[in-house]
Amino acid sequence: MKRAFSIQSLILLAACLVTTRAAAEWYSDTQSIMGTRVHAEIWQEDAAAGQRVLAEIMAEMRRIDAVFSTFLETSELSRLNREAGKGWMEVSDELFDLLKKSRMVSDLTDGAFDITYASAGRYYDYRAGERPDEETLRMALAAINYRYVELDEKTTRVRFAHPEVYVDLGGIAKGHAVDRCAAILAREGIMQGMISAGGDSRIIGNRRGKPWTVGIRDPRREDVTVVLLPLVDTAVSTSGDYERFFEEDGVRYHHILDPSTGDSARATRSVTILGKEATFTDALSTSVFVLGPVEGLKLINRLPGVDAIVIDAEGVMRYSAELDELAH
Ligand code: ADP
Ligand code: MG
Repeated sequence: MKRAFSIQSLILLAACLVTTRAAAEWYSDTQSIMGTRVHAEIWQEDAAAGQRVLAEIMAEMRRIDAVFSTFLETSELSRLNREAGKGWMEVSDELFDLLKKSRMVSDLTDGAFDITYASAGRYYDYRAGERPDEETLRMALAAINYRYVELDEKTTRVRFAHPEVYVDLGGIAKGHAVDRCAAILAREGIMQGMISAGGDSRIIGNRRGKPWTVGIRDPRREDVTVVLLPLVDTAVSTSGDYERFFEEDGVRYHHILDPSTGDSARATRSVTILGKEATFTDALSTSVFVLGPVEGLKLINRLPGVDAIVIDAEGVMRYSAELDELAH
C-alpha cells in the first residue's frame, strides 16, 4: 500500500541534506509508563542535547500519568471521581481541556466515545478475568452518559449530574501525552523523530529521507504484521481487542466497551486511525472500534484529513475512502 507522501519526503530529504551536520545521530529511549511502553526516537546533532530532550519527554509522560491515572489515588482524575459527584469541583486547565475534547468526540460519534463508560468499566478486571454481574451492570449503565459530565468553561469547574458517574480517560490521555511530547520536539527544533505511548504515535518529519514505517499487527497472531504504513508527519493510533482481555465460554471480554451496553464492543478486532493530532486519533480509534466497520468508516469518510484501517470481526481489512483509492 502506498501513501502519497513521496514528493514531500523528497523535499524534506533535500532540506535535511543541506542543514544536517555529520555528527548527528539517533537517540532513543524506551520506558514503561502509563501502564504501557513509551518510546521516543529523535535525530539530534548533539549528544548532550539528545539525552536532555529524551529525559524531558519521559518526565512529561510521567507528569501526565500522575494527573490522569485512575490507579493513583493522588491523581487529579481520581480526585474528580471522588468529588464531582457531590458538586462543582475546580480542575486544572489541562484536565478541563481534555474533558472538553472528550466531549467533542462524544458529540461527533453520537456517544460511541464516552468517558463515563468507566461507570461500568471499573467493574471489569481483565487480568483477574472478572466482569460485573447483571445487577451491577444494570446500576452502572444508568450512570453512563457523557452529558452527565458538566463543564463550566468560565470557572473551569466540573460536576457529575449523576452520583454514580466514574470517568476514565484511557481512550484519549495517551494521545494527549504524545501530542504534548511532540510539542517539546517542535520547541527544541527537532525535525525528525517519533514518539509513542502504547498504540498512539506521532511521526515527526521523515526518517533520513525515507518515510517512517508503522506496522499493524494481526489481531489474532502477535508476531504477524498485516500491513506496513509508510508515514511522514502524521499521528497514528491503533486500538485492538487483544490488548487487555480474557475469554469466558468462548466470548472475548476486552477493554473497549460499548457505552450503550457496558459490554465489550465485538464488531471489530482492530482500528488504526491516521490524522494530525494524536489526541484525536487516539479517541477516534476507540470510537470507530465501538461504532464497528460500517458506521465507523462512514464517520471517518466525513472527516477531512483523517483516514482509517479497520480489521473487522471476520478478520477482513477495510480502508477509509482515501486510502482505498491509494490501495487499488
Ligand atoms: P489502549 O492503547 O489502552 O489499548 P485504546 O485507544 O484502544 O487504548 O482505548 C482503550 C481504552 O479506552 C480503555 O482501556 C478504556 O480506558 C477506554 N475506553 C474503553 N471504552 C471506551 C469508550 N466507549 N469510550 C471512551 N473510552 C473508552
Ligand atoms: Mg484510542
